[in-house]
Amino acid sequence: MFKISILFLDREFEHDIYELIRAFYPESEINVSYTREEQDAVSGDLRFRVEKQDQNCLIHYDSEERRGVISAEFIQGQSSDALLCCKDPHEIRKENKDKIKYALYQLLVKLTGRTLPWGNLTGIRPAKLAMGMIESGMKNTEAAKEMRERYLVSPQKTALAITIANREREILKDIDYENGYSLYVGIPFCPSICLYCSFSSYPLKQWQDRVDLYLDALVKEIQAVSRMMKAKGRVLDTIYIGGGTPTTLEPEQLKRLFDALEDSFGFDGLAEFTVEAGRPDSITAEKLAMIRNYPVTRISVNPQTMNQETLDIIGRRHTVQETRQAFLLAREQGFDNINMDLIVGLPGEDISMVENTLREIRELAPDSMTVHSLAVKRAARLNIFKDRYQEMTFENNQQIMDLTMKTAYEMGMGPYYLYRQKNMKGNFENVGYAKVDKAGIYNILIMEEKQPIIAVGAGGSSKLVHDRGKRIERVENVKDVWNYITRIDEMIERKRAGIEAWL
Ligand code: SF4
Repeated sequence: MFKISILFLDREFEHDIYELIRAFYPESEINVSYTREEQDAVSGDLRFRVEKQDQNCLIHYDSEERRGVISAEFIQGQSSDALLCCKDPHEIRKENKDKIKYALYQLLVKLTGRTLPWGNLTGIRPAKLAMGMIESGMKNTEAAKEMRERYLVSPQKTALAITIANREREILKDIDYENGYSLYVGIPFCPSICLYCSFSSYPLKQWQDRVDLYLDALVKEIQAVSRMMKAKGRVLDTIYIGGGTPTTLEPEQLKRLFDALEDSFGFDGLAEFTVEAGRPDSITAEKLAMIRNYPVTRISVNPQTMNQETLDIIGRRHTVQETRQAFLLAREQGFDNINMDLIVGLPGEDISMVENTLREIRELAPDSMTVHSLAVKRAARLNIFKDRYQEMTFENNQQIMDLTMKTAYEMGMGPYYLYRQKNMKGNFENVGYAKVDKAGIYNILIMEEKQPIIAVGAGGSSKLVHDRGKRIERVENVKDVWNYITRIDEMIERKRAGIEAWL
């Protein structure tokens, strides 16, 4: 395996430099050191050294074929007279970061002979960047130029980001950022654990007799959050029930959850109420009927793939036929905004298999479709057992991404949200497509970080957005379900302290 070693004698932009190098060398082993001795002790086919000299950031590189150094001249943050120091330190840092990433990207293109679709952007929210530029008064053409020239994003991805940013602006125009917030409710149980899963999800079978205890804790947290947010004069805009798989709950348990939400928050004035039904093997007519008793506006039925052999490999333990049935059942019950999630880049799937999935999806005609590029995170069993899947191809390429986009357009959908993940195959992105009035507002809110999102349940990570989105604090709940149940008062107290301090 090709080995890379990076020595950080200056760590200011360690994360960005590391991520950009890794984006160019996704299959390589990368070692990081902080002293020369540490780096000397590890081997590396390609070695980098990052250091600062005066106001220059230098990156030395050294391999058998090439060696040299690139540099970026940093702007100064300090003025001798504090009153004359006119630049915001965040702005200065951002400019310096952009400079070193620009130089490093050019070097990596030279070393590898290839470019990346998202240029030197390593963050997960390219549309947020485009949105920020447009909101600052730039025209679309100016924002596009900036993305292409400063961040070296391909013309195609630039167009995608700008299109999405504009659609998001239109969808969010009625959302009250200042006084509103959204609520995420986590149900961390699944019928079985998918091979690629990196969420904290628990197999229902082992937890069945403790689900009610989980709901006890969850309801307590819901009630507490409602009191806290009312005291702050905040109005609830959207609710998203996700997981895990919310429809692992039995109808009576769903009722208990919905009643608690209704009693605590009321459903009047909600801009959106989503239940991610998720796994088709958890969806029944009774559960859908229970959901229909409440003003749920949007649900998800997630196939991921419509190829049975892949479903078997990735451990989803449901059939393609079950997906079709669950979808049609939901339609019969009157759900008029159904999303379907797909994953491209699954083990063994080539373009013809993706074509088959898309053909099946078209027949079902959902209202929105979210296309994920497979991201293998460390925790996923797919990664742990990767030797077992070594002979399989994990294929994702622009042709596949184009095909998903073309199919979405043919179904009358356009892109409305976008995010990238670490370890994403081929450095692509996840894109949500929706028909004109069927976009998932919560999905945009979480990506654009415009308003607080309070997350309840095990593993919930609340984002306390303040200062018009400039600052974000997080309050985390414990991931472990049993810890969550037994330490619920502590979770509530954490939230109370965070909300008190930041909202
Ligand atoms: S359905 Fe989703 S949350 Fe549940 S195991 Fe599969 S990937 Fe994880």
